[in-house]
Amino acid sequence: MSVGTITRSTALFLFAWGIGTIAAGQEIDFDRIRDEVESIRIEARAQRFEPRQSVVAGAFAMHTSDYDLVAVWDPAGNRAHESWDMSLIYPLPGTMQIAFTNNATVGTRRQSGGLAGQFDGPMESSRIGANFKDLWLSNPILLLAHAEQRAVSTTGSGERAAELRELVLEDTQWLVEMDATSGLPATVSTTENDPHEGRIENRIVFSDWRDIDGVPFPFRLEQFTGDGLVRREVRSAVSVNPEDAESLLAFDASQLASGDPAMRRWGWDMSHIILKRGGGGNIGNYPQIDNVTIEEIAPGIFLVPGTHNNLIIEGPEGLALVDASWYPERSRTLLALMAERWPEKPISYLILTHHHIDHTGGMRPVVEAGASVVTSEKNADYFRAIFETTMARSVNLIEVGQFLSLDELGREIHVYDVYTEHAEGMIAAYVPDEKLLFNADLFSPNRPLQFSLWFDDLMSAIRWHGIDVEKHAGGHGSGIAAHPVDTSGHTMPVIRQVETGQ
Ligand SMILES: [Zn+2]
Repeated sequence: MSVGTITRSTALFLFAWGIGTIAAGQEIDFDRIRDEVESIRIEARAQRFEPRQSVVAGAFAMHTSDYDLVAVWDPAGNRAHESWDMSLIYPLPGTMQIAFTNNATVGTRRQSGGLAGQFDGPMESSRIGANFKDLWLSNPILLLAHAEQRAVSTTGSGERAAELRELVLEDTQWLVEMDATSGLPATVSTTENDPHEGRIENRIVFSDWRDIDGVPFPFRLEQFTGDGLVRREVRSAVSVNPEDAESLLAFDASQLASGDPAMRRWGWDMSHIILKRGGGGNIGNYPQIDNVTIEEIAPGIFLVPGTHNNLIIEGPEGLALVDASWYPERSRTLLALMAERWPEKPISYLILTHHHIDHTGGMRPVVEAGASVVTSEKNADYFRAIFETTMARSVNLIEVGQFLSLDELGREIHVYDVYTEHAEGMIAAYVPDEKLLFNADLFSPNRPLQFSLWFDDLMSAIRWHGIDVEKHAGGHGSGIAAHPVDTSGHTMPVIRQVETGQ
């Protein structure tokens, strides 16, 4: 391996390409591309996948949406317009249209359909950061033209030889692997923050290169975080300096409040999470630290409401927390509130209903504070592997089979296995003295929308275990619902409609 630094002016190189669209031996003049490419327009068909929403922890990623994309981008001027026309697949079948027009700090978001419904207003600073990060990551020739090149090294030999270019742009390190045969970027990668893993690699693999007005563009992109597939994109058209760029990039910024640079950076540093959750509306675009409250719903039982609810169970000797919604920032805020309210009581248990990241993305600060983690034996290995690589301290992992009674609080808590296609290793927490059962994702109290098969799974588990339930609380929805559940006010057709056509 040889390492040397070179300046950008010497970063011209030759590439040979056997297919007619790009001439063999053509030089890529990055200085010219930087100066002359004022904007690009991309049309593409893309698929999104969510590895952390899989049915089995660590297994096959969930396919969450397909969409048609139009993106117009002025890289030097930090302006962009994107429209996503989405077919939503998971968790709720449907359609959603979303369009962004923004400069470096502010922008507009127009949205209809989907879970979040109609919106026409300012674009979140976090999404501005995430979108720009993704545009750089997805367009490696423009990244090479605009970034500062720090070092070049070679790796492998013969057919496996590759050149690695280390770049810096917006205080972020990027690694571009240049294919030795074609002289074109094979992959671009960077590392990002991740609620579970701390840092994670965000990498795109490129193929099907075509020449557009002397600029090579990849027409097939495949994106991974760690080993997990998160996006496949096939481009149908790319143009350089398109005539309609200015009209598509124009928007009225005069009525918009100034953007939040810290939130822009937060989204930039976590673009893989912000973008793969795009189909869910915008619920993942904030750390949700300004809405943390503790509300008593039964004696010594408290709901922490949000897009994702947590439950606190208080006993004479300590506390149990059920689930830790995204993100770590939210958990730190909740931990401070709990310490203020119960200064003498430790958090003995963190009960994780299942492995999905929206219910567990905030787990690490709670575990760092010393809580034992209670999880199904079916995904204990998944959590153990995360804790072993991210935690300085050893973590006490309590594995639940069919049933477990927890007694450290001086108040009994029962934990039951729930067999459901929503997630393997689902558990529900039950407080016998209040006959209250807390579940996540299967039944959402006082919310009209329910997922009928998952609801049936919970009711079946209650019958199977013979649990004496009087009250339900949930990871979604609000307050308490009585058992047996009156389903007359619910819209429950969603999954059943898809599967049975009725
Ligand atoms: Zn879930």
